[in-house]
Amino acid sequence: MTMSLNPTTAAAAQQPDWPDGDLLGHVRRTLRELPGLTTEEETEQLGTALAEAARGEALVLQGGDCAERFHDAVPARVRRKLDHLQGLASVLRAGTDLRVVPVGRMAGQYAKPRSDSYETLPDGRRVPSYRGDAVNDPAADPALRTADPTRLVNAYDCSRSVLRTLRASWTDRPADERVYTGHELLLLPYEESLVRTGRRGDYAASTHFGWIGARTRSLDGAHVGLAASVHNPIGVKIGPRTSPTEAVELVRRLNPDAVPGRLTFIVRMGAEHLETYLPPLVESVAAYGAPVVWLSDPMHGNTFRTPDGVKTRSMSAMRAEMEGFVRVLRQHRQWPAGMHLELTPDPVTECVDFPEAAADRRAFPDFRSACDPRLNPAQAERIVHAFLDLL
Ligand code: PEP
Ligand code: MN
Repeated sequence: MTMSLNPTTAAAAQQPDWPDGDLLGHVRRTLRELPGLTTEEETEQLGTALAEAARGEALVLQGGDCAERFHDAVPARVRRKLDHLQGLASVLRAGTDLRVVPVGRMAGQYAKPRSDSYETLPDGRRVPSYRGDAVNDPAADPALRTADPTRLVNAYDCSRSVLRTLRASWTDRPADERVYTGHELLLLPYEESLVRTGRRGDYAASTHFGWIGARTRSLDGAHVGLAASVHNPIGVKIGPRTSPTEAVELVRRLNPDAVPGRLTFIVRMGAEHLETYLPPLVESVAAYGAPVVWLSDPMHGNTFRTPDGVKTRSMSAMRAEMEGFVRVLRQHRQWPAGMHLELTPDPVTECVDFPEAAADRRAFPDFRSACDPRLNPAQAERIVHAFLDLL
């Protein structure tokens, strides 16, 4: 059996300060009575596709906003994002002749973990940090930064709208080119209330694919407990502080039956750390013998701030991280199954070519992300081609 921890009693990291009172309880009851957003069958279809990636027969492209916005949950916007992801997947498909499984960071990517619970505004006021549209608003207004439980119901409604557009897109594509949804399993009241029971047991009906972030992957924590209790395909972000022993223990807890496609490791070490920390980790996991889908997230370990406080990332560091990732996996006879990227179909200027370019204040005329810097379409295409060249 997969269930080893009770998610309601284990410590839950990165939860907002919800207001006192029964509003959160009321929201939980509402969410429990609503229909599941995804079906068990859809999650199984994605699991089958990811099993091919675990066996080295397919590639995976996960991508989308760092923080999805409620106001983007409209058909025209969602279609642009789907077309963008499909276009990048076709580049990989054309270059390899393999099946490519696109998974959006969408239909639920409304919650953000934060390193700091508070942010100091330019005028000196301290406000709670933005934690995603499911919690509060990015506007620098103390009232709008207060965690509001009713936003969890808005997150459900927006996710449902996005899924409606997504499913409509399925009808004019071959089944093996479908985009699936994924988001970080972060807010326990939301995720626990959307667990549904299917034929095979419990699954997270909030998404097809859910991942555990670098800040919440503690072995005894509530997030690992929740992921262990559902049978969707799941991912875990693997950073420089994940030890080889912890990685093997994550495999034991999250994929005890060694089902191919069940568990994805999303490596986000940072280009400068990867060479030190990834080889022993891959070696231990490979020696343990469990099937893991290995993805490279070349973005989250390579974030830095300019002197003006702009959060950015350089294409050169992303390339270096992907290059190390593919090389280390190859050395250990593991399949580099693809990428996990933050990207947008909009022509934004949020990432730079080289770190030096960030010194120029004019480097970011169109920074729109509510959270981390994303690749614009030209940059995303270059990253996908760089990955293809490495294969
Ligand atoms: C993210 O994917 O937006 C994120 C917060 O990543 P990580 O948990 O790897 O820092
Ligand atoms: Mn991010």
